Amino acid sequence: MVDTDRYQEDLLSDDSESGSSDEASGSDEEVASWISWFCSLKGNEFFCEVDEEFIQDDFNLSGLSSQVPYYDYALDMILDADSPNHDIVTDEQHNVLESAAEMLYGLIHVRYILTTRGMSAMHEKYKAIEFGRCPRVLCNGQPALPVGLSDIARTNTVKIYCPKCGDIYYPRYKYQGNVDGAYFGTTFPHLLLMTYPAMRPARHRESYVPRVFGFKLHPTNVASQPGNNAAAASGQAVHAPDAAHNASAGQNCANHV
Ligand SMILES: [Zn+2]
Repeated sequence: MVDTDRYQEDLLSDDSESGSSDEASGSDEEVASWISWFCSLKGNEFFCEVDEEFIQDDFNLSGLSSQVPYYDYALDMILDADSPNHDIVTDEQHNVLESAAEMLYGLIHVRYILTTRGMSAMHEKYKAIEFGRCPRVLCNGQPALPVGLSDIARTNTVKIYCPKCGDIYYPRYKYQGNVDGAYFGTTFPHLLLMTYPAMRPARHRESYVPRVFGFKLHPTNVASQPGNNAAAASGQAVHAPDAAHNASAGQNCANHV
C-alpha cells in the first residue's frame, strides 16, 4: 500500500523547494515526517497524526512487537530514526518494512484515538467533516465517524458510522474503503460521542414511507421487519382490512403505546 519511492521523492522535492527559505529563516522543519507523509496519502484521510511522544512511550506499544513483523525496523521508520542496518536493506525488503510500518502505525493509531489527545484530534477532523457524511437521504448529510467491525487486524475494512441513524456504511471513496477497520476499532465512534455529548444528533429517526399512487402500502406488501407493527396498525393502508380486524389492530396498537 505504501509507496516508498513516493515518500523519498516527496522528501527530495521538499528539500529542494524549501532550500532557499530554510537559509533565510534558519528553520529545518520543512521536511515532512513519515507520519505526516503517511496521513497525507490518498485513502489515508481518516487517520490523524499520532504524537511522537505517544509512540516513544513503550507502555503505549505493549504487545505490538509480537503482532508486527520487523517491529524494530517499522518503529524506526515511523519515527524517522536512522536504522544502523538501513543501507543493507534491498528495495524488496524495504517494501516489506513499509508494509510493516503501515500496520504498526495503524495498531498504534487505534490506541491513540481512545486517549484524550487522540480523541481531540479526531474530533477536529469530525468537525471538518473529513470522515464524510451519512449517505442516507433522511439523515440530511449528517457527518459520520470511522468504525471497525473487528478489533483484529486484517478482518474487515473500515466503515463509517452515522450517529443519527445509528447505522454503518461503506466510505464514500473506494480507496478509503481499502483501509483496515482495526486501525479505528469497534469502540472509537461510540466513546467519542460519549466524550463529546454535544456532537450527538437527535436520535429521532425519520423513516421513508413507500407509497403507490400516493397511498401507503399494506404491511403485507412491504418487506417484513420488526417494528413495523405500529405502522401497520395506523389504518392508512391501501388494502384496508375489514372493520372488525381494523378495530382490534388499533386496540393492539393502543395497548402497545
Ligand atoms: Zn444516517
